[in-house]
Amino acid sequence: MLQIKNVSKQYEELKVLDQINLNIESNQTTVIIGPSGSGKTTLLRCMNLLAVPDSGEIDLNGTSLIFDPKAPIQRKKVIDFRKKTGMVFQGFNLFSHRTVIENIMEGPVTVLKKKKQEAREEGILLLQKVGLEEKANQYPRQLSGGQQQRVAIARALAMKPEVLLFDEPTSALDPELEIEVLEMIKTLVQEQYTIVIVTHKMAFAKEISDHIIFLEQGKVVKQGSYSELYHSGNERISKFLTTLQ
Ligand code: ADP
Repeated sequence: MLQIKNVSKQYEELKVLDQINLNIESNQTTVIIGPSGSGKTTLLRCMNLLAVPDSGEIDLNGTSLIFDPKAPIQRKKVIDFRKKTGMVFQGFNLFSHRTVIENIMEGPVTVLKKKKQEAREEGILLLQKVGLEEKANQYPRQLSGGQQQRVAIARALAMKPEVLLFDEPTSALDPELEIEVLEMIKTLVQEQYTIVIVTHKMAFAKEISDHIIFLEQGKVVKQGSYSELYHSGNERISKFLTTLQ
């Protein structure tokens, strides 16, 4: 459903992604792992064009983008592409001056042009799904970090994206708040959303992944199931997979 072909990205002299080729399968959970600075976040950001590759191609269910600095991508295509992807960030990124329900309604109303009443009703259902309907009229600062991240998940779901992207979704949370977010993501995995997640939490990766991609210095070093990677004969990767985080 999401194909990444020969994608490269450079910041100044630094080659962050080097000829990446990947297929993300529908209804599966793909986990991106690798050492710090290996390009995981940049790769995820390229999947919804928050970062624009320098070269290569990305296809998402029929929307195809070819990257060439001499031929900028049409704005309409970028918007189309963004609508199909939902991102959940490390730092939640909620609008602080809007209530929880307003945060969730924002995308459907402004981007999908839904009527406010409909967006509100759907938003309440999503808040029920993430167990926070009683917080609808509160502001993000009145919620714990774990609750804010669950609102951010509801906000991403409100756009009915074809793929959900998670960038280290629990790294800003204390361990006791982390669990509620991990449990929420597990529910989405069981419901067979198409998910791509960057995480350092190897036990979690083992539990939820259908496919794992190991990145290093902007290259895909190995990919496969957890067990395939673990038994790949690459001792460093096996060690990485069993590191407690
Ligand atoms: P990871 O998620 O694996 O830690 P990142 O994708 O965040 O890796 O970063 C890869 C490299 O690219 C790092 O060296 C980082 O400093 C650099 N980098 C990331 N984003 C930018 C940016 N916007 N400008 C300059 N350098 C960046």
